[in-house]
Order: sequence, then structure tokens, then C-alpha cells
Amino acid sequence: MLTQIKGLHHVTSMAANAQENNAFFTKTLGLRRVKKTVNFDDPSVYHLYYGDEVGTPGSVMTYFPFANMVQGRRGAGEVAETVFSVPKGSLGYWKERLGNHGVDGVQDRDAFGERRLRFFGPDGDGFLLSEVEGDARQGWTGSDVTAEEAVRGFHGVTMRLRDGGATAELLKFMNYEEVDRQGTTTRFAVRGGNGADVVDVEVLPGAAPARQGAGSVHHVAFAVEDRAAQLEVRKALMDTGFQVTPPIDRDYFWAIYFRTPGGVLFEVATNEPGFDRDEDTANLGQALKLPRQHDHLRERIEARLEPIID
Ligand code: ZN
Repeated sequence: MLTQIKGLHHVTSMAANAQENNAFFTKTLGLRRVKKTVNFDDPSVYHLYYGDEVGTPGSVMTYFPFANMVQGRRGAGEVAETVFSVPKGSLGYWKERLGNHGVDGVQDRDAFGERRLRFFGPDGDGFLLSEVEGDARQGWTGSDVTAEEAVRGFHGVTMRLRDGGATAELLKFMNYEEVDRQGTTTRFAVRGGNGADVVDVEVLPGAAPARQGAGSVHHVAFAVEDRAAQLEVRKALMDTGFQVTPPIDRDYFWAIYFRTPGGVLFEVATNEPGFDRDEDTANLGQALKLPRQHDHLRERIEARLEPIID
């Protein structure tokens, strides 16, 4: 069993508009933008990271905003919902706040003994805010959301699959155990994790396949402490028959990727070196940061990217 895995590291999705995406996460949800960089494989596109003060693994929602990208279609074979943890008693505040920020169709969706609000992001992204007891993580308080209400990071994700059997086996191999079941959804959790501990698997045998687009989760990343742990995980996954990429330097963490039986792309990312490796904590996310291989193109890249007004 891969005891090196300690919960989620980040969730990466796609959007159609960088400005709208930035406003939704920093102003509506009150997260901190902890990095403004580009897609390393396509530097004409931003890669925006939102999280707590320092972008602690387990708090980091990231986006590739592809201008005018067509919306995805929710369905089977994807992460359908990203679930954020908020303090107990804060959902009334959040319901009002979401309404004030123009988020329509906010629904009460209590489950697994948790009070939850369900709503959609600017591109139809599926989100939940869940009141989680005993989550000691500190949310970002640099916005107008106070510590009593601030998003503390992920609680987890909900994967929607046609057949959950092989994915359940994989999650158990990845240090998760089945802890609850409700209707068509099975809850898995990692013990002693970083707070972003839950993966819910909803099985809908008749569901049409999801179509990736704006508002879709591109991949979900799980956290390991360092590169040595990542190599152990990689070897164990490959010994089990998974095709795993070599470790890739993402500047703020190292990443390996593999496709899971249900179709969802998984990543395993290191907690090191973190988002403060190339800028001060006080100024995280302000300047456009480029990976070394693209820095000589800075002028061209900056000219093509739409500036983001905070
Ligand atoms: Zn990633």
C-alpha cells in the first residue's frame, strides 16, 4: 500500500476566461492567487494557482484558461465535483455571499453527515462547500472573508464513473480506505492525511461519457512529501501495471501522471519545493513567473497574455 500518499495535492481544471476565473476564485471564494505562470507545454496560456496563504498542498486549485474554450459536458469518467472545506456554521454566510457575487442555483446538498452547498463556477465547474468538523487548517484571510468562514482547502473530490470497481481497488492501493456509502456514492478517505482526505466515487453505469472542455477537471493530483517518496510510488504503480510518466519538473513541485481505469487522469506531486521558491510569501502570485525554458520568450509571452486585473 502506498502509505506515502497523504491526500490531495492540487486539482487542475480548464476555463474559458482568465479574468473571470481569477475573479471567481480570489473575490467570490476569497482564495489567494499563489502563482501566476504559464502552461509549461503551451506558454501562450496562463496557469493560475489559487489556495491558502502559501499554497499548501491540499489547498491548491489550478486553472488553464484557454480563451473562448467550449464548455465541457459533465458525465462519466471525470472528477465531477471539487469539494472545499469550510468551518462549521459558515454555510449561511456562504449562501448569502455566493448570491451577492452572482452565483445562481446554489443548492443544499447535505451528505455523509456534512452540511454542504453545491454550486457551479463560471464555466459550469462543479463545486461543493462542505462544513467539516475538526479541520485545523487555516484559510487565507487576506481577502474580505474572515477566518471564521474562509475556505481551508479541499475536503476532497467526487469522481463520477460508470464502473467503480477497479478505481476502488486503486484507491485502496493508494492508502485510501472505504469509510462510508450513501446511495450510488462510496466514500474513501486517507488516514493521517493533509486535510484534503476524501475521495467520493459515484457510480452511474448508464451515464454518458464526460466531454472535456472549460469547467472540466483536467486531472487530480495526490500529495507525497518528496522526490524519494514519489519514486517509490512510481515504481509500485508500474509494478502493478500502470503506465506512469517519468518525474516532470513543474518548478513548484515534481509530477508523475497516469491514467486510471475509470478514465480520470491522476498525478502524484511532491510537497517540495513549494510556491515560495521564486518569490516572497508576501508577494506570491503577483508577478508573472516563467519557467526557465521559456524565460527568453518573456516579452513575446507577456505581449500575448491578456493582463489580469485584480
Ligand atoms: Zn497537476
